[in-house]
Amino acid sequence: MLEWIVKQVKRRLTMKSFAMLIALCLLMKAEAMEKTIDEIMEEANNDSMSYDLVMSGSSSNPTVRIERDILVSLDEYMDRQKDMMEEEKTGKRMKRKATPSRRWPNAIVPYEITPNTFSGAQLTQINQAITDWNRETCLNFRPRNGEAAAVRFQNGQGCSSFVGRIGNVQPISLANGCRIKRIIVHEMGHAIGFNHEQSRNDRDRFVRIRTENIPQPVLFNFQKLPTNQVTNLGVPYDYRSVMHYGARDFSTNGQITVQTLDTNFQNIIGRAPGLSFRDIRLANAMYNCAGSCPAMNCPGEGFVGKDCQCKCPTNDPNNPIQNCVGTAASTTTTAAPPTSAPTKDCSDMNMYCSYWAGQGYCETSRYMMMYCKESCRICNAAKRCEDMGQSCGLLQQRGFCSVNFFRNYMQANCAATCGFCRAGELLAADGSPLNKASILESASALLMLAVVAVWRIL
Ligand SMILES: [Zn+2]
Repeated sequence: MLEWIVKQVKRRLTMKSFAMLIALCLLMKAEAMEKTIDEIMEEANNDSMSYDLVMSGSSSNPTVRIERDILVSLDEYMDRQKDMMEEEKTGKRMKRKATPSRRWPNAIVPYEITPNTFSGAQLTQINQAITDWNRETCLNFRPRNGEAAAVRFQNGQGCSSFVGRIGNVQPISLANGCRIKRIIVHEMGHAIGFNHEQSRNDRDRFVRIRTENIPQPVLFNFQKLPTNQVTNLGVPYDYRSVMHYGARDFSTNGQITVQTLDTNFQNIIGRAPGLSFRDIRLANAMYNCAGSCPAMNCPGEGFVGKDCQCKCPTNDPNNPIQNCVGTAASTTTTAAPPTSAPTKDCSDMNMYCSYWAGQGYCETSRYMMMYCKESCRICNAAKRCEDMGQSCGLLQQRGFCSVNFFRNYMQANCAATCGFCRAGELLAADGSPLNKASILESASALLMLAVVAVWRIL
């Protein structure tokens, strides 16, 4: 009997300990989740000189690390200091120095990962960060294939990256503590050209830097960007940005150093789980991701995504973006077609399409061309954008796309190769939609067919 009681007590104790252990784990996990980006970097930097200005690089090309994780050449840093001093002195915007474009051409970012450096789990985090950037923007992080300029995920002291493209293989350094998705997303953000949100030139309207809580020697980490380096592109300040540091960045007395003027965001800054809506919006703007889309007015803060659909914010920081619901507000109260809608299909996407078509909007409205294809009888517009001919590449190489005489033929047969397509339809030389039947009947097209036939025989 006694033995049975001891057994039960032991069992209960074991169960209790097990439950406590689980609770403790959950608690620790919750605490880890709540760390701000700068706190994680601070820990990762523990064994290195996170407060030092001059960090590394060869003597001919010394590199400075500022704001914990931004690498900048010493020359550039000095230039920036001069600009800021002058701006402060004169109160004028600096325009003289044209900062080189640090954008990646065609939004392609070749990358490599130093072998034998990351565990399987860490590689998963890197790949998830890459997937996030590639999914939400038109940036294309893809394995390096001989390109001179690329990013390299590697080990390093702390977490760090240059801002924008440098022109050779540039490091995204990830010490052990940095190998989590949101930190990697942040460092990749620098590599494509993002600065820290709290360094924005307009930040004083959104945060107050409590300098009394920051030691003087590290105050340089709170400098605002000079106006000539501003790349906000109309995107409002974003407390939820993955590029925003937390409330106690560089605090040595535990007090707040970055105070949000909107108090609702005091505990939100620095805790982004990944790209925010405005991060995505900014990257899309920086790299002109909707460059080939028709002009559209998206509702509210919405923007046109790379798929030419309006993107709107959600309330879920883990899934911050969605296709806008409904249509953009029309500027008129009459029954005119809306100026945008989030879909593309070869049928009517609005119940009023036939009515609008009857009113003659097919000829004048881009909306109608995209969303009322059935009523406007342009259902095959997308198909007309394909090459119909066999030798388009060769003809293009010989300049046939740009020779007026052959233009009709090339439009009918090699529209894609010649780049004559726009928004799923063909355009005539004057920009108006084109009818394929009339093209094929044209004399120049027939002549061209003969030329191609002769060329094939030869
Ligand atoms: Zn950073």
